[in-house]
Amino acid sequence: MRLSKTLAAGVQSYAQMTYIRALKRLPLVALILGPALGAYDAKGEDISLTVDATRAPQRILHAKLVIPVKPGPITLYYPKWIPGEHGPDGPISSLTGITFEAGGQTIPWQRDPLDIYTFHVKVPAGATHLNASYDYIEPDGYSATDKLLVLEWNEVLLYPAGTPSRDIVFDAKLMLPDGWKCGTSLPRAGQPASAIAFQPMALDLLVYSPVIAGQYYRSIDLTPAGEPIHHEIDLAADSEAALNMSPDLRRQLTNLVAESGKLFGARHYRDYHFLLALSDHVAHFGLEHHESNDSRLGERTLLETNAGMVVGALLPHEFVHSWNGKFRRPADIATPDFEKPMEDELLWGYEGLTEYLGPLLAARSGLFTPEQYREYLASAAGMLGPGRPGRAWRPLVDTAVTQAGGGPGGGGGGWTSWRRGADYYEEGDLMWLEAATVIGHETKGQKSIDDFCHLFHGGANGGPEVKTYSFESLVQTLHEVAPYDWAGFFRQRVEAVVPGMPSRGLENAGWKVEFNNQPAHLPGRHNPPSALYSLGLQLRDDGIVSDSIVGSPAFDAGISSGMKVVGVNGHVYTRDVLEDAVKASKSTTAPIAILVINYDYYRTCNVNYHGEERFPHLVRDESKNDYLTELAKPRAAK
Ligand SMILES: [Zn+2]
Repeated sequence: MRLSKTLAAGVQSYAQMTYIRALKRLPLVALILGPALGAYDAKGEDISLTVDATRAPQRILHAKLVIPVKPGPITLYYPKWIPGEHGPDGPISSLTGITFEAGGQTIPWQRDPLDIYTFHVKVPAGATHLNASYDYIEPDGYSATDKLLVLEWNEVLLYPAGTPSRDIVFDAKLMLPDGWKCGTSLPRAGQPASAIAFQPMALDLLVYSPVIAGQYYRSIDLTPAGEPIHHEIDLAADSEAALNMSPDLRRQLTNLVAESGKLFGARHYRDYHFLLALSDHVAHFGLEHHESNDSRLGERTLLETNAGMVVGALLPHEFVHSWNGKFRRPADIATPDFEKPMEDELLWGYEGLTEYLGPLLAARSGLFTPEQYREYLASAAGMLGPGRPGRAWRPLVDTAVTQAGGGPGGGGGGWTSWRRGADYYEEGDLMWLEAATVIGHETKGQKSIDDFCHLFHGGANGGPEVKTYSFESLVQTLHEVAPYDWAGFFRQRVEAVVPGMPSRGLENAGWKVEFNNQPAHLPGRHNPPSALYSLGLQLRDDGIVSDSIVGSPAFDAGISSGMKVVGVNGHVYTRDVLEDAVKASKSTTAPIAILVINYDYYRTCNVNYHGEERFPHLVRDESKNDYLTELAKPRAAK
């Protein structure tokens, strides 16, 4: 997944966590047999799921489920731990209008008082099928607009407890508004009819196969010449114009597919679909699956001049996940169903390595220019250097572990610089870059990160498959590529508290991080706010303080997250006025007077800063080889 979140959680030593994990780890058989003694009758008959999305523009879906059963009590789960989201955040509050019927009669249901995702019903004597009928209310601004829908199947199904997801087979059908078309990696069954029927699919693969649909829909082939496996991008947008992909972007995305083949040496899908929703009224993120990704960007993204950079910061990451995260998955995240909790310590591998390889492939495929790639890395380094005083108290692994506890997003309310965010993404990026430089150095250039990816993510070209790994097997594979103390390398960077900018990988690769007054030109959240590295202040457009870096001039002057900046040196606040005040601060001894509203009171905070605007950039260190550029060179023939 790729989503910026804030983080709030407590401190716990890694030793404590390892101990707790050892206590929690149960034999697989216990997981399978836990609440298994229901009346689900899996033999010979699939579960039928029909989703009526004809009212998608009204933001309500209706579903009917028919489960083969035997008489007796049965426990049903609504998917809770959503793969790729790494936490217990299935949208249970959107499940409404639930009724159960069996043997011709409506039967009562109860929700489990200890787990709101669990439902209990009793199938009456003589009944062979349990029918469930319910609605799913599309959350505002998430997946449905007047013109499009992204359907994640976990939102619209219940499944019987006690059987692993891979052993429960669903026959799914989908009804769409008149004239809508759709794209998905889910193979269709039969000819198009009033409902689109899909081939019988195991529950886990069904959940991994979302559907994108809309009035304005277009699919574009991205299969490189000579590539036997089909790749396409399926676009649904809020307007027809938004579907216009430039030939350049199409060529870069086709390059991305070719470069992924060179990097990994094998593909673990039957074919691949980039599902891209283009709307200003859906949530903007990406969610990975084996054979597709569900990515969502602003409506006019493809029409913007920096489309390659915006698309390149998202789609390559989600695509890489097909190998790293879906095929190779930390064992404690590869749970048998969507009810068993995940343990997220290895997200620095699952997400961190993906966050390194995604932008690397964006650079190799031309989605990022070499300069954009460097600015992207500089932005990550700046954020984790002066932007993260929280690194002085909190080890990286703790930002991963807490993802499973409701997640960094559970905090809200700012203070990200001190709490830390989901840093296993960006810090993982720089840490894996450093690992790549160590491979190059230790093997005297004979091996590279590509050799590791071939060994770790390669194998036979096959369909979707999960091959789990542990910390030990990960470092063992690295050791096979380049003998080195990899366990020590990661324990120091992941488990220890290591303040200071994690820039060693950049330095090994021939580049230094320097701050100067030239802004970067990166899209969206990758572009550092103008007062962040000078005053220590991050503001929303309306002046609300989203972060005031602990220890910075703004913080020392009394400004905190949640306050609202309304004036600067006697002027009404605008971004330009604040920028002008920072630029002028160098030639005066007077502080910058920032007027804030703190609940019911005005307060003037005198910020003692006398420098320029500051933005992070990479500057070449001529005493070293430019290994960064070497790593980012294309491998595939164009
Ligand atoms: Zn991800």
